[in-house]
Amino acid sequence: MNGRFHPERIVLARTLSGMTQKQTAEESGLSQAKISKLEKSFLPFAENDALAIAFATGMPLSFFEHTGSAIPMSELTYRRTSKTPMRELAAVSAECRLLSETIDGLATTLGIANPRGKLPYETYYQGVTLPLEEIEAMADATRAALGVAPSGPVRNVTRSIERTGIPVVRLSSMDHSGSGRSEGVCRPGDKEHRWFVGYRGDVSGDRSRFTKAHELGHLVLHSRRLPGTRAAMEKEAQEFAGAFLFPSLDAGMLSRSMPLRTYMNLKSGWGISISALIERAWTRKAIDADRRKSLKIQMSMRGWSKQEPVAVGPEKPILYRQLLQAAYPDAHGGVDWLKAEDSTGAPVYSLSIWAGIASAQVAEPA
Ligand SMILES: [Zn+2]
Repeated sequence: MNGRFHPERIVLARTLSGMTQKQTAEESGLSQAKISKLEKSFLPFAENDALAIAFATGMPLSFFEHTGSAIPMSELTYRRTSKTPMRELAAVSAECRLLSETIDGLATTLGIANPRGKLPYETYYQGVTLPLEEIEAMADATRAALGVAPSGPVRNVTRSIERTGIPVVRLSSMDHSGSGRSEGVCRPGDKEHRWFVGYRGDVSGDRSRFTKAHELGHLVLHSRRLPGTRAAMEKEAQEFAGAFLFPSLDAGMLSRSMPLRTYMNLKSGWGISISALIERAWTRKAIDADRRKSLKIQMSMRGWSKQEPVAVGPEKPILYRQLLQAAYPDAHGGVDWLKAEDSTGAPVYSLSIWAGIASAQVAEPA
């Protein structure tokens, strides 16, 4: 069957809206048996059915006219354990897929070249964990590629990434989550589609900056090579983020005798958390295991392990909104949302979150 509407999008629509087959049946007025048959292509997917399911799931009708392929979770950097629920993984993967489809569509509409060549890439041996010196060299090269000075704080991590043409986008599927959840996601090995960096919005400014630098590390370090294990990949990205935010040229100021208060002062100047600075000092062997432990104990006694002092302001991405505005402008310099929805196949609800206009959810869903 090669109709106008693609039945494999029904499951995607349900996943994006967090609805079961039964709920979709109730909301759409179709029987559950019929939805099941439509999903399996046992029945032709007619316009009336597409309209009913679009209405039930909150998708535009054009959502079912788009095609694309599912993103295997193994290709996403989203950190997970054996306890991470399937539902959570499916929701993140589905949102990444829809976002990625819209970014490709916007870039094609606007005739924008693929920006991935602007970032350096790592070519060290496959299956080997990178030594710190190599990671620091890559972090320095990345700062240079993004137009960030070799020394000093990165003023705005988000804008720096977006200057290369890679949208940084808040994902609603990553918000309102337990503490164990991953806070960033990207797809470094993907050569077919345009890159993006997805992040969880409901965390502090310093954590969010670190997460974005971490995902940038995945893009730089893991687009053409991989260390042996997933854990090694995470370690490399963590070290990259530390080196990107607090580069080797400046890291000499981290010393064994430095008191916790100085870490706190450094945090306000550099926009990097105290705990990340302690890790940076530890990876550089500026402090030993005992000193690291003692600093952590001091932090925990002050309650700083749960909530650190010194607020770092949030960074707002702008690129995705600019792309929408350029592709679907309205008469007042804003976005023609209905046109954007119809052309991209993504609901206004998602588009406005990705564009940074709406916040994910003001209230917890019932
Ligand atoms: Zn990671």
